[in-house]
Amino acid sequence: MNELEYINTGVPQEEPQRQYYFMKKGRELAEELSRQAGRKLTFCVTTFGCQMNARDSEKLTGILEQMGYVEEPEEEKADFVIFNTCTVRENANMRVYGRLGQLSRMKKKNPYMMIGLCGCMMQEPEVVEKIKKSYRYVDLIFGTHNIYKFAELIVTRLESGRMVIDIWKDTDKIVEDLPNERKYSFKSGVNIMFGCNNFCSYCIVPYVRGRERSRNPKDIVREIERFVADGVVEVMLLGQNVNSYGKTLDEPMSFAQLLQEIEKIEGLQRIRFMTPHPKDLSDELIEVMSKSKKICKHLHLPLQSGSTRILEKMNRRYTKEQYLHLVEKIRAKVPDISLTTDIIVGFPGETEEDFLETMDVVQKVRYDSAFTFQYSKRTGTPAAVMEEQVPTGIVKDRFDRLLKEVQCISAEVCSVYTDTIQEILVESVNDHDETLVTGRMSNNLLVHFPGDDSLIGTIVFVRLTECRGFYYIGERIMK
Ligand code: SF4
Repeated sequence: MNELEYINTGVPQEEPQRQYYFMKKGRELAEELSRQAGRKLTFCVTTFGCQMNARDSEKLTGILEQMGYVEEPEEEKADFVIFNTCTVRENANMRVYGRLGQLSRMKKKNPYMMIGLCGCMMQEPEVVEKIKKSYRYVDLIFGTHNIYKFAELIVTRLESGRMVIDIWKDTDKIVEDLPNERKYSFKSGVNIMFGCNNFCSYCIVPYVRGRERSRNPKDIVREIERFVADGVVEVMLLGQNVNSYGKTLDEPMSFAQLLQEIEKIEGLQRIRFMTPHPKDLSDELIEVMSKSKKICKHLHLPLQSGSTRILEKMNRRYTKEQYLHLVEKIRAKVPDISLTTDIIVGFPGETEEDFLETMDVVQKVRYDSAFTFQYSKRTGTPAAVMEEQVPTGIVKDRFDRLLKEVQCISAEVCSVYTDTIQEILVESVNDHDETLVTGRMSNNLLVHFPGDDSLIGTIVFVRLTECRGFYYIGERIMK
């Protein structure tokens, strides 16, 4: 059925046809508003938080463009501002309230302006209550489970003239084949699963993103094939815990098997993924990584703590020894792999001895880089009500010591590639010097070298001439 036929037969019940119906209807409504305003209506999607949110924002952008809205980079000039929110850290919420306050002035001046809020923060009932009470001028609120309904919600808002709120507690629904507008022409995130079943005791994600559900492998492969046909050479497979991919499918499939299917896609050159949970990282996956020509030599393996006692309190379900053993197995099979990690310092009950266990793992693994965090209470998680919260001064002191160690090791580890020739995917013209371009090695290290924008999206050979801490300067060579 084409779009016109849907309209003749009423509102389709099936997805994604239903949303295409609403995109068309929304486009007509937006066109009418454009006529009244005497200009094209514009939008600005602001993304907070992780890569999952960034990918969701590309979907919102795709739907808005189908409806005839034109992108406007400056929030305050846009007719439709959408905040795709994150709630992993408590202070992130304050930033959104602050920005909303500023927008109220703009909204008074611009009669066509609408404000939409979505993402993880909206899954918290207190947040929605607060917005309903104190930010009455918000037009549209929806959550993480029904982002696919964006077009339908916009139409409801335009037709009713009232604030529209649609939040679902959970879903097992995955809607395929909706438009999306990729930020980069040559690389793209690809959701392979949604939600998380792990309930690490400091993390709010399982409460706001719901239970784990995997996309059908055929849909994933089809999407990547389309991207490749459109010039994409690198994909980043996204999931909160990619290692448990496929468990909920009618015909279960492992993440390693999915990777093998993706590897077969002709024209695709690089495959990345995040985030694997150490407890589920299988020998099968290590084997597949060791044989692959396309999976990048980089593994982000969140440690969180090196103390088995604290790992238990975090509900991570691995011990220090199991983690170290896993690293050994990975390095034995993929010797040139770059390992990066996340570490939380000052989790409730963490003693100096526990902290030294973390330092011990850092010294043994020698990460290429590590994201280090000071533990901060997240209301709604079990850890927030644990006793023995560590005083801020002690957390800060441990954090400083850890950061120094991580940076020192990282500088040593990263410098080993000096004078080698590497394949670099060129991503952009350098921000500070337009005679240079910036690209990434397979292991994710950044390299700057002379070149121009015609190289963007291509993989070229570069000799790494100088290591400057966490990045390289190089020169292109013809091979
Ligand atoms: S694996 Fe743990 S840290 Fe990661 S999203 Fe799930 S609960 Fe949060």
